[in-house]
Amino acid sequence: MKITEINHSSHGHKLELSYSETPYQCDGCKELGFGSRYQCNKTKCDFHLHEKCTVAEPFATHPFVKNTNFEFKKKGKRGKVCKACGKDVQGFMYKSKGTYLHPCCLNLPSTLNGGTDRGSLRLNLESKASTECLICRNKEIRKGKLKGWAYVSSCGKHCYHVGCVNGMNFENWKMGYFNRLQSGGGTNGLVFVKVENGESSNGTKESEGWLMGYALDLIVQAVLGGALASMLGF
Ligand SMILES: [Zn+2]
Ligand SMILES: [Zn+2]
Ligand SMILES: [Zn+2]
Ligand SMILES: [Zn+2]
Repeated sequence: MKITEINHSSHGHKLELSYSETPYQCDGCKELGFGSRYQCNKTKCDFHLHEKCTVAEPFATHPFVKNTNFEFKKKGKRGKVCKACGKDVQGFMYKSKGTYLHPCCLNLPSTLNGGTDRGSLRLNLESKASTECLICRNKEIRKGKLKGWAYVSSCGKHCYHVGCVNGMNFENWKMGYFNRLQSGGGTNGLVFVKVENGESSNGTKESEGWLMGYALDLIVQAVLGGALASMLGF
């Protein structure tokens, strides 16, 4: 059974489990979230934490970082970046020697499976991009410094850095571009409204364009922490 109410050392009031239909910023790790979260009911607080940040495992491992035991820390470290996404660790994080990971990055699903009546799609989390990322057009998220984790489709054609999708999520969130599908749509949950310069596929086949958008939607949700929940039917 899930704990629906919890006392957390980072906040003076009780936190309650709730479901957010729009992205929010976690007050623990400072990353965006979507779906289930713990929040303070006092409106003036506007305080919320990812579920994974509220009930964080004190120690964790990840298959991409061999023989390493990560320890959960509540304080970020200035100038240190997450090995998965390349963004600063500004709050809650996992640390082991010189390696840092955001709690949400540590918990990214290793595969994303999606399917609609138009086809199916499988994306695997890889420790580095096998081909250029479709957002930044590079293989490394910081050239010569950090490769960055990426989701790669099983056909190998669609590759997106976790950090690039994360950055895009932040941009969209700041601009208020997130929207919720009313219901009955092919994907469950969140879609982000595609705007600006009509990124319409230049000559790419219609099915390819659809696949790209769909792949991106799945990763957007995974990075925001909603995919796992919606796929496992929580
Ligand atoms: Zn968090
Ligand atoms: Zn409060
Ligand atoms: Zn990260
Ligand atoms: Zn990229």
